[in-house]
Amino acid sequence: MSDSDGKKPLGLKGARPGNVKQSFSHGHTKNVVVETKRKRVVVPKPGAANAPAPNAAPRASDPSKRPAGISDAEMERRMKALQAAKEQEVADAKHRAEEEKKREAERERRRAEAEAKEREDREREEALKAKAEEEAAKKRAAEEAKNKPAPQPAADPAAAAPAPSGPRGGGRAAPTPVRRDRDEDRNKGKGRQDDGRRSGKLTVNQALRGGEGGRQKSMAAMKRKQERARQKAMGGSVEREKVIRDVQLPEAIMVSELANRMSERVADVVKSLMTNGIMATQTQTIDADTAELIIEEFGHNVVRVSDSDVEDVIETTEDKAEDLEPRPPVITVMGHVDHGKTSVLDAIRNARVVAGEAGGITQHIGAYQVEQSGQKLTFLDTPGHAAFTSMRARGAQVTDIVVLVVAADDAVLPQTIEAIAHAKAAEVPMIVAINKIDLPAANPDKVRTDLLQHEVIVEKMSGEVQDVEVSAISGQGLDELLEAIALQAEILELKANPNRSATGAVIEAQLDVGRGPVATVLVQTGTLKQGDIFVVGEQWGRVRAMENDQGKRVKEAGPSVPVEVLGLNGTPEAGDVLNVVETEAQAREIAEYREKAAKDKRAAAGAATTLEQLMANAKADENVSEMPIVVKADVQGSAEAIVQAMEKIGNEEVRVRVLHSGVGAITESDIGLAEASGAPVFGFNVRANAPARNSANQKGVEIRYYSVIYDLVDDVKQAASGLLSAEIKETFIGYASIKEVFKVTGVGRVAGCLVTEGVARRSAGVRLLRDNVVIHEGTLKTLKRFKDEVPEVISGQECGMAFENYEDIRPDDVIEIFTREEVERTLA
Ligand code: GDP
Repeated sequence: MSDSDGKKPLGLKGARPGNVKQSFSHGHTKNVVVETKRKRVVVPKPGAANAPAPNAAPRASDPSKRPAGISDAEMERRMKALQAAKEQEVADAKHRAEEEKKREAERERRRAEAEAKEREDREREEALKAKAEEEAAKKRAAEEAKNKPAPQPAADPAAAAPAPSGPRGGGRAAPTPVRRDRDEDRNKGKGRQDDGRRSGKLTVNQALRGGEGGRQKSMAAMKRKQERARQKAMGGSVEREKVIRDVQLPEAIMVSELANRMSERVADVVKSLMTNGIMATQTQTIDADTAELIIEEFGHNVVRVSDSDVEDVIETTEDKAEDLEPRPPVITVMGHVDHGKTSVLDAIRNARVVAGEAGGITQHIGAYQVEQSGQKLTFLDTPGHAAFTSMRARGAQVTDIVVLVVAADDAVLPQTIEAIAHAKAAEVPMIVAINKIDLPAANPDKVRTDLLQHEVIVEKMSGEVQDVEVSAISGQGLDELLEAIALQAEILELKANPNRSATGAVIEAQLDVGRGPVATVLVQTGTLKQGDIFVVGEQWGRVRAMENDQGKRVKEAGPSVPVEVLGLNGTPEAGDVLNVVETEAQAREIAEYREKAAKDKRAAAGAATTLEQLMANAKADENVSEMPIVVKADVQGSAEAIVQAMEKIGNEEVRVRVLHSGVGAITESDIGLAEASGAPVFGFNVRANAPARNSANQKGVEIRYYSVIYDLVDDVKQAASGLLSAEIKETFIGYASIKEVFKVTGVGRVAGCLVTEGVARRSAGVRLLRDNVVIHEGTLKTLKRFKDEVPEVISGQECGMAFENYEDIRPDDVIEIFTREEVERTLA
C-alpha cells in the first residue's frame, strides 16, 4: 500500500500493535504505532505530507477535550508523552496553522462578498466535518485506550500523516465508511492525534481549497464575481444615479466635451457614436445634429445654444418707418456668357461717369454708382451668377434688381435660364436687356418669345417684366435701360435709415501689397464713417480710410453706397456682412468667436465629408470645368494673394478651384489631397518635405515651385486656358544640409555641408531653405571638397559651400541645388 504510494512503508503488522518508523521526504522521522491491519491506510501524497504539522497543532489542545470515556490516568500519560515528544513541533505547527488561517481569512475577507459567503459555507461545512471527525477521533481514542494502554508518543505523527489523506483516499467510497475506517485506523494507530489531525485536517483542507483546486476555483469565481459586481455596480449606478441633464449644445462640439457635458464616459460616447455609424475619436469635433442624436440616446435633454451671444452687441433693432429714407437701388447684371454683361456694365459706367468726371474712373472697386435723372443707381460690377449666389448664400442679399442680358442674335441659353432661376429664387425683380441690337442678325422678338418658355413675360408680350433693346457697343438704348431701372426702383420703394451704425456687405476683398487688406463694401443701412470700428465676417478693423467708386477719399458712406474700406486686420470674403460696433474689444471678440465657430464647423464637416463627397461637390457645377490646385506659401499674405488671384482666373466655363491653401512646407497630406483631385501642388517660396516629395513621385503628383506670384498666376492662367508653351523649368539636382558654419577670412561665412541627395554642382543655382521655406536664392561662390575647389560633390560626401552675396546661413539649413532648362509645360 505504502509502497504503491511511493512512501516509506508503514509496515503493518498483524493484529498486534507495533512500532513503525516512518520517514518523510522532508526529513521528519516518526514512529507510528500500528495496532491493527484491518483496513488500509492511504499514505499521504507529497502535498499531504505536510499534514502532520497542521495536525500536530490542534493535538496539543485536544487532551483537554478528552471525553470522559477515556480513563484519566491513561489519558494523561499519553498526553504527557506526546507533549514531551512533540511540544515544539506542535507549537510550530500551531503557529503555522494559525498564520495560514489568518492569511487565508484575510484573503477570503478581501474577496467579494459572495465569495466570502461561499467560504463561510465551506468553513461551516468544514467545521461540521471536523466535528464529526473529532467525534470519530474520540471514539478512536477510546478504542485505542482500550486496546493499547501506553501508545508511544512518536507514533502519533505517523498516524496523523495518513489521516489527512484519508478523506481523499480513493478507496473510500461513502463518507460514513470512510469515517469508520479512519476511526478504526486512528484508534489503532494513535490516540489523541486524531484530535490534532481533525484540526490539522481542517487546516489542510483549508489549505487545499485555498491552495490547489480550491484556490483555482476561487480565483476564477472571484474574478467573475468581482467583474459581475463591478458591472452591476456600474450598470446599477447608470440606472440608479442617472441624472438627466440639460446639455448645452453649440453648433459643433468635441466628443470629449460632449461626454463631459453629459457626465458620461468618453468611451461610452465614442461607442454610441460608433453604433450610429460615426467613427470619431474623443478629440474629434462633431456637428450639433450628430451630437443631439447621442445626447438623446443617453437620455439627456438637448439645449441648443450658440456662443454667438457675443454678437448681441451688434445693433439689430428695426428701424422705425419715419427714420427710413429712400436709397438707391443695387443692380446686378446677369446673363449667358458672351451675351454682353461686361460690355453693358462698362458702357453704362463710361457713359455716365465720363460725362461728369474728367478722367473717368480711376479706381475700379467692383461696384459703381451712376445718376439717372437725379436718381442714383448702384451697379455691382461683378457679373456672374456665382457672385450673386455666393453672396446670397452668405446671407448678404444685396441686389434689388437683376438686369438679364440676352444677346439679340442668340437665344435663351443655359446660363440665361440659370439667371432667371436665381432672380426668381431671390425674389428680385428682373429687367431684360436685349443686347447687341446693333447686329444685323439681331432678333429681339425671338428672345422675347424664348423667354416666355421660362415664364418671363416681357411688357412687349403684355407681361410685367420690362424689356429694353440695347447695344453696349453703340450705346443705343442705355438711357432707356437706366430709366427702366429707375422706374423699377421707384416701384420697389427702397428705403434705409442712414442715421444708425452701419451694416454692409463685402462685394470683394483682397490683400493689397501696399495698403494691406482692402474690402469693397456696399453699405446697406446706416452710414459708415471713418474711424468706425467694425467686424466683418471673421475679421475686424477700424475704418482708416474710405474711397468711393471714383477713387476719391470719402469720410462717410450712406446706404447703397459702395466704398473701399482700409483698416482691416485680415481679408474678409465676398458676401461677408460688415457691422459697426462700439469698441475694439467687442469687434475682436466677435471676430474671434466667428473664426473659432467657422473652424469648428469646418472640422465637423471635414470629419463627415468623404473624399467622394468632396469630389462630388467639386464636380457639382457641370457647366464649369474646374482646374483644382493646392497652394502652399511661405506666409499667410502670399497664400491669400495667390488664392485671390486664382479665383479671378477663368471665365464661366473654366475656373480654378483652390482645394486647399496654407502656409508652410508641402506635406504628405497636401500630396494626398492633390492626388485625389488630380491637382497640381504649387509651392510659393516653400518646398515639399522629404516624405511629401517621395509621395508625390510615387503618386505622380506634380509639385511646382514659384518665387514670383506673377509667374504662378501666369502658369495657372495658361494651364486653365489650355495654352501651355515651353517654359524654363527647374530641376533639382541635389540637396545638402548644413552641419556647421565657419568664418573664413577673405571668403566670409562658409557652410560645412553634407550632400544628402543627388549632387552639388558649382555651376548650378542654389537656394537656402530653412524649415522648408526658401530664404535665399542665388549662386555659389565656392564649392570645396577638403581644400580644393571642385565642380561637383556627390551624395554622401562632405563639402564646403559659400553663397555669393549672402551670409545668413545656419546649421540645419538645407541647400537646394537646381538647374534650369527649357521644357514643355505640363500642368496637371
Ligand atoms: P459677357 O461674357 O456676358 O460679359 O460678354 P462680354 O461683355 O464680354 O461680351 C462678349 C462679346 O460680345 C464681346 O466681344 C463684346 O464686344 C460683344 N458685345 C457685347 N455687347 C455687344 C453689342 O451690343 N453689340 C455687339 N455687336 N457686340 C457686343
